[in-house]
Amino acid sequence: MTPKFIFTTGGVLSSLGKGLASASIGALLEARGLTVVLQKLDPYVNVDPGTMNPFQHGEVYVTDDGAETDLDMGHYERFTHAKIRKKCNHTTGSIYNTVINKERRGDYLGGTVQIIPHVTDEIKRCIQSAVDGVDLGIIEIGGTVGDIESLPFLEAIRQFRTDVGKENVLYIHLTLVPYIRTAGELKTKPTQHSVSELRRVGIQPDILLCRTEKPLGRDLKEKIALFCNVEPEAVITAVDVETIYEVPLRFHKQGLDEQICRKLNIWTRSPVLTEWEDLVYKLQHPAHEVKIAMVGKYVDLHESYKSLNEALCHGGVANNAKVDISYVDSEQVEREGIVEQIEQADGILVPGGFGGRGVEGKIRAVRFARENKVPYFGICYGMHMAVVEFARNVVGWKEAHTAEIDPNTPYPVIYLMREWFDYRTQRIEKRDELSDMGGTMRLGAYPSHLIPDTRAQSAYRVEEISERHRHRYEFNNAFRQELEEAGLRVSGTSPDGELVEIVELVDHPWFLGCQFHPEFKSRPMAPHPLFRDFIRAALRFKNGKPVRS
Ligand code: GLN
Repeated sequence: MTPKFIFTTGGVLSSLGKGLASASIGALLEARGLTVVLQKLDPYVNVDPGTMNPFQHGEVYVTDDGAETDLDMGHYERFTHAKIRKKCNHTTGSIYNTVINKERRGDYLGGTVQIIPHVTDEIKRCIQSAVDGVDLGIIEIGGTVGDIESLPFLEAIRQFRTDVGKENVLYIHLTLVPYIRTAGELKTKPTQHSVSELRRVGIQPDILLCRTEKPLGRDLKEKIALFCNVEPEAVITAVDVETIYEVPLRFHKQGLDEQICRKLNIWTRSPVLTEWEDLVYKLQHPAHEVKIAMVGKYVDLHESYKSLNEALCHGGVANNAKVDISYVDSEQVEREGIVEQIEQADGILVPGGFGGRGVEGKIRAVRFARENKVPYFGICYGMHMAVVEFARNVVGWKEAHTAEIDPNTPYPVIYLMREWFDYRTQRIEKRDELSDMGGTMRLGAYPSHLIPDTRAQSAYRVEEISERHRHRYEFNNAFRQELEEAGLRVSGTSPDGELVEIVELVDHPWFLGCQFHPEFKSRPMAPHPLFRDFIRAALRFKNGKPVRS
């Protein structure tokens, strides 16, 4: 069938969970046997989200094809089987960039280049190009209706319905129905305003998802329906839930997927949601609890570790355990030493990161984990910290460091590799301190070969894996032999053996650092093997049992 399109927009304010709502719609439609893809169009002017500050914008999510995208792509991949690629995330900046490049190249033959039709055409082209081969595209428009930046996107999706036919397009609008305590009432006015704003640009939403603290009664639904010109059944409550994985089930109970199919004239089987039900049951009834200390920099904004939090939660599901994460500021560890949260943790994790802030604190946390046999999981920068700590305190190279922080160290155990064979481009890549910062990143999926009889291989149970990368610095092979002889085992490398992908400690119950970001590939229904084993080790540590099985 030719693909159908669902456009999700948001009103009143941001952070209502549009990404999650879109992902949940995708999950429900997949449960009915349809194939979907999701795409996000972000109104901000930055050309690529990779260079944005995680404090402001949350995590940078990396796809297999090496795109640095908005964190909503993570929700899309965790909730559905959609393959999210570069073309699933565009910004105003990237769209304008393409249009301006086309103009410079002469593609518009000297004509006047305008927002309508040139920018809107480019947006429509991006939408069309994302949906090849699937039944349905779910396109999320970032930002809030009423923002200046979103106008070209709204205009493009308005035109889209005329272009591809009314029966092929559905507009879903996510809005807020706040509870006003002093009045003891849920208020519908912001929703009315937001919908009228949408209608001003020519879009009449078909379905409203109303975020509320309290479920909407029939009377309120009818009122919203009347004022917003939709059917009362099309007013769906998106009430706050304990776990995000409950959202698809809540939507389903109110008939959302049924209505979508009816309105788009799609015939499907009834949805199979047992996997989701089992997952939510497990999340709500854990038999165990485990404490993980995450020692990092952006600890103030948990959104910047979104995928990591989810992957830890999935690792918990695999072990029937609730994972209680405490975020420890590595600068605090630098100042005050091992804080109580680290001391009491059943497992310690140092996540990815950049730059010098709090580095010594992270290294102290690694040392504590190594010496006290606390399960340790180091991801990317966390692996670098583990190698530096081992070089300094086990091998005795006191000045060892990563060249990222100390370019003049006599022991650059982590460094910028000048030349390496890139499996993605199938070329020898070269880089140095002066080359363009972003351009020199190793980004996206790369294969690794696992070494038999290692903790890594026993977790994955295969020999070849593919994981996603986002970094510049690498393990330095000049020090490999000495580090290995002292007990730091290399358990995964690139297929040519040149790039170290995983290290682990021989003399430790569970201590592993990986150069890649496994969190991007963990799914609630398929917890990532390294997170599963890390949580299992933490559980055993908590119970005072030897960790290795
Ligand atoms: N800063 C390190 C590098 O660039 C690690 C990056 C990361 O943790 N993602 O190599």
